[in-house]
Amino acid sequence: MAKRFETKLIHSTEKGKIPIRSKVTPIYQTSAFTFDSLEDLEGYFQGEGNYLYSRTGNPNPDELGQMVAAIEGAPAGIATSSGLSAIFAGVLSVAKSGDHIVAAEDVYGGSFHLLREELHQLGIETTFVSFTNLELVEKAIQPNTKLLYTESITNPLLRVENLQAVVGLAKRHNLVTVVDNTFATPYHCNPYDLGVELVVHSATKYIGGHSDVTAGVVVGREDLVAKAREKVVNIGANVSPFEAWLTTRGLKTLAVRMQVQSSNARKLADAFKNNSHISRVYYPFEEDVTGYGAMVTVELAQTVDVEGFFKSLGWVKIVPTLAGVETTVSHPLKTSHRSLPPEAQDALGITNHLVRISVGIEHSEDIISVFEQAVENSIK
Ligand SMILES: *Cc1c(COP(=O)(O)O)cnc(C)c1O
Repeated sequence: MAKRFETKLIHSTEKGKIPIRSKVTPIYQTSAFTFDSLEDLEGYFQGEGNYLYSRTGNPNPDELGQMVAAIEGAPAGIATSSGLSAIFAGVLSVAKSGDHIVAAEDVYGGSFHLLREELHQLGIETTFVSFTNLELVEKAIQPNTKLLYTESITNPLLRVENLQAVVGLAKRHNLVTVVDNTFATPYHCNPYDLGVELVVHSATKYIGGHSDVTAGVVVGREDLVAKAREKVVNIGANVSPFEAWLTTRGLKTLAVRMQVQSSNARKLADAFKNNSHISRVYYPFEEDVTGYGAMVTVELAQTVDVEGFFKSLGWVKIVPTLAGVETTVSHPLKTSHRSLPPEAQDALGITNHLVRISVGIEHSEDIISVFEQAVENSIK
């Protein structure tokens, strides 16, 4: 039948029928998928593969979830719209109204808020304790406790969690362990191998790596990931095909980025240790001589003017995120930890002189000299 102009606009090509063998996965920028017959449609519901509707499944988010699962050594994984929705779906796959969580008191600010406010409103209570003393964690466990929640490396003081010990405690009490592995990345740490059932990531950070997407990932035990997938589908916390595609593109270079960024971070941390105008360097020095993560946090000495320091950083910009290929700085007291009461800020060591540095892939000597110069230029 001859098509008229308006019909040709919509139906002039045979979508999906061209045998193109693209080198990289194409972006499936579509909200839904087609079927040739009712039988074909029924096949979808009988689990014969294919896709139906992008909120319930799309090849790009699936590829991202599977890639992270593979590099974490976990059997299953799903991608989500953000790190926080990954945490939300991960926690809801284990806990429901009436259940209780024990979480590290120094978790990421957004996670703290999610647990303390949003999940509280859904009837899930969280007790926050210092995970540096597992006796405190054990004391906080109640008959309705379902999970322990912590991070492999914390923000901004870069405390490395003893995951073996946390998992051991969880197993003794029949609890699930959920770990946010954003700062360490699967390059430095594989919590699933250590017995952690669910690993969550803000893929917005190192997994994406280029500060151009907001995305999250949950990987781990198959049954829990399947439940987390249900949450993502039913809440509508899916990531868009394009963002998932950008994230998988970034993820391919995770090893080379982390090698350079972690090694640069280690060199910068070593240089800071010898600087008398830096009173404290937070970096996991003991972990690995080639570096352990690409974040370095320092406390400037009282001899340094903080405002002046931030103004003297040249090409290093102030940015309230981390993990891009560019070196950036943030001021935790006035950004990530702004909403905490002053006593809590003091207790955690978040002072006005604290500077968090996300180390990039520039030449290490240029990075070191930009910071040494900024310190030099801002001495009172
Ligand atoms: C950024 C971040 C999150 C939240 O991720 P979004 O992608 O911003 O939702 C969670 N945990 C850690 C450790 C983070 O750095």
